[in-house]
Amino acid sequence: MTSTNDIRRSFLDHFAKEGHELVPSAPLVPHNDPTLMFVNAGMVPFKNVFTGLEKRPYSTATSSQKCVRAGGKHNDLDNVGYTARHHTFFEMLGNFSFGDYFKERAISLAWSLITGTWGIPAERLTVTVFHTDDEAFDLWKKIGMPESRIIRIPTSDNFWSMGDTGPCGPCSEIFYDHGAHIPGGPPGSPDEDGDRFVEIWNLVFMQYEQVDKETRIDLPRPSIDTGMGLERIAAVLQGVHDNYDTDTFKALIAASGELTRTATNGDFKASHRVIADHLRASGFLVADGVLPANEGRGYVLRRIMRRAMRHAHLLGAAEPLMYRLVPSLVAEMGAAYPELVRAQPLIEETLKLEETRFRQTLANGLRLLDEATGGMKPGDVLPGAVAFKLYDTFGFPYDLTEDALRAQDLGVDRSGFDAAMAEQKAAARAAWKGSGEKASDEVWFDIAEEFGGTEFTGYVSEEGDGQL
Ligand code: ATP
Ligand code: MG
Ligand code: MG
Ligand code: MG
Repeated sequence: MTSTNDIRRSFLDHFAKEGHELVPSAPLVPHNDPTLMFVNAGMVPFKNVFTGLEKRPYSTATSSQKCVRAGGKHNDLDNVGYTARHHTFFEMLGNFSFGDYFKERAISLAWSLITGTWGIPAERLTVTVFHTDDEAFDLWKKIGMPESRIIRIPTSDNFWSMGDTGPCGPCSEIFYDHGAHIPGGPPGSPDEDGDRFVEIWNLVFMQYEQVDKETRIDLPRPSIDTGMGLERIAAVLQGVHDNYDTDTFKALIAASGELTRTATNGDFKASHRVIADHLRASGFLVADGVLPANEGRGYVLRRIMRRAMRHAHLLGAAEPLMYRLVPSLVAEMGAAYPELVRAQPLIEETLKLEETRFRQTLANGLRLLDEATGGMKPGDVLPGAVAFKLYDTFGFPYDLTEDALRAQDLGVDRSGFDAAMAEQKAAARAAWKGSGEKASDEVWFDIAEEFGGTEFTGYVSEEGDGQL
């Protein structure tokens, strides 16, 4: 079996051999974009190169970029543990052309890697193109895709833009068919959300520049940006359907099974997955300098940690669990990411402290939650005031409450929660008045709340969420 570490290497080698500069992953906290919470795509560190603001000594590059999608507009947090293909932290493999090659070479490089080097049968692949992009359609046909599996998509799913202005263009996504035994239809079909056809690679063709609302011009030197999920391609190449059955995740899940003496495949399956995923996100975020806090990036981290900790509690862990899993994480990923090795003591201490503190209120909060939901039936909704009390008194992030109720098919009244929060904020503001200044974090948080997160609007407009 090819390990995930070998697959990462083989992707980077493929493009390095073709003259691409091998660029190490940038940290998860973006240095070039204060409006973006975390790097969420491989192109983010190259944003200014694409717009021409920054020059580099190379015109093509390849990287394996650490990404987090757990807040703001690109939020995959709620999917974790429940789909086969989503993580909060994942690695995006990519190749980039800054005004160098364009569609034809991008498609042929992708094709030779997937069907050549990796030997994936072409019959398993389906690709999408933007409905007007005849050029991409013809290139896929020429390279060997039958027309019936080149699907024209008219929605923003297949048109990418960096923001309201700037580079933009059609994109082409490559899907792997895991087989008819799994529910789900091909892209563009009514049941495309199933996990049968999994999107493995997105090729973005930056060929226009949006100058203002009305004007779109051709870029003199079009560019390429691609993103492939390492964990998804690892599943394909390891012959499993589910990312959580790949080597890295299996090792992490086995460790949490051992430490909690619970089965990893029965009722606790989702909990083990959440723990493994959130362990990675927490470890990498701390290694990149994020610490749990009550606002901003640190609050996203705290939410991730506490959510994992509730699942550890579900598994019956009598002592803090997460920090004891860090050695497994370092064993799996430390060679590729030495920052994990360097930060290991800090990651362990941070997790231990957070879990020790949170455990003191977790049990009481869960008791309150049990009482409040005692008489409820599937489909019912927990009052926002209760969710707020859990947040305010017991340190339950909103989404933790939501996640806790999900198994019983209960919802939470979000607007009631927001109203209670607003009320408390107003009271706090009234008390703050007189000091004459507004804390910068508070300003940031106001913006984040108003717009639902100030995430960088770049990369992918899937889910129609590419823009503020
Ligand atoms: P999906 O539609 O499956 O949510 P996406 O279209 O949002 O994926 P892109 O923004 O196109 O994903 O990112 C490029 C690639 O990164 C995807 O093709 C996929 O392989 C991978 N990827 C995206 N989101 C995740 C995630 N949450 N976990 C793991 N891999 C991901
Ligand atoms: Mg995509
Ligand atoms: Mg998609
Ligand atoms: Mg997505």
